[in-house]
Amino acid sequence: MAKPAGKCASCGADLTTFKYKPMPEWNMQGPICGSCYSRKLTEHYIAPDRREVTKK
Ligand SMILES: [Zn+2]
Repeated sequence: MAKPAGKCASCGADLTTFKYKPMPEWNMQGPICGSCYSRKLTEHYIAPDRREVTKK
């Protein structure tokens, strides 16, 4: 069994193969999982009007 690399600093999921280093401006204390990373990227780098377009 793979040794867990830690917990996601955002959602608490176990980090195994995939973990991501958060951007300093996200105020995260450690690595985060892929789903939190992509969600954060979306929140921080896609403009609000653009986000409305991509929702559907
Ligand atoms: Zn997470």
